[in-house]
Amino acid sequence: MAEMVFKYSAMNGGKTLNILQTAYNYEENNFKVIIIKSIKDTKGRNNIISRNGMKRAVDILLKDEESLLKEKYYKKYYTAKVILVDEVELLNEKQIRELWTISHLINIPVICYGLKSNFKGEIFDKGISQIFAIADIIEEIGSSSLCRCGKKAIFNARKVNGKYTDNGPTIMIDDGMVKDIEYVPLCSDCYLKYVKINSIEVKKLTNLVDKIK
Ligand SMILES: [Zn+2]
Repeated sequence: MAEMVFKYSAMNGGKTLNILQTAYNYEENNFKVIIIKSIKDTKGRNNIISRNGMKRAVDILLKDEESLLKEKYYKKYYTAKVILVDEVELLNEKQIRELWTISHLINIPVICYGLKSNFKGEIFDKGISQIFAIADIIEEIGSSSLCRCGKKAIFNARKVNGKYTDNGPTIMIDDGMVKDIEYVPLCSDCYLKYVKINSIEVKKLTNLVDKIK
């Protein structure tokens, strides 16, 4: 039976490259592939673009609250061998449940790629909570992203005007439209050091350490 898979990594972890490679592997064998992404991902407009510049048009550019259970989409799934979803963290809970239903009812593998956490280090959104709850397989992408210190990156830190911040809305796309916003993959130690250094937890523990010294 087909399965719904969630593959995650921090930013710059090779997710889009992985999708493009997977699509290529299927198409090389003459199997049709459906690529879905949310319209919220304004980067590349209706294309997905890997960091090394490879790109490909998506088959479904999904609107915010749009249902995936539509006749025009069903016709696409029906002739395809696999469904690939880029930046799945931008889909809502309902869209995730629809993908799961499609996968199991039509018997087509659905492979979703995305981030598990936002720049605050919290579960990205309700869609990601939902995918953790129902995906058949959850795996970290092997070629995971690296922190600037060389350790494996876990966090997707946000920099605004060159400064780390954990304030602001969850979704701000670094598509070149919003100036001075960038995301930096960081390991836990660096996230603590650069982003969380002024948090209540860190201050409390630092005080305790000083007291006991
Ligand atoms: Zn680090």
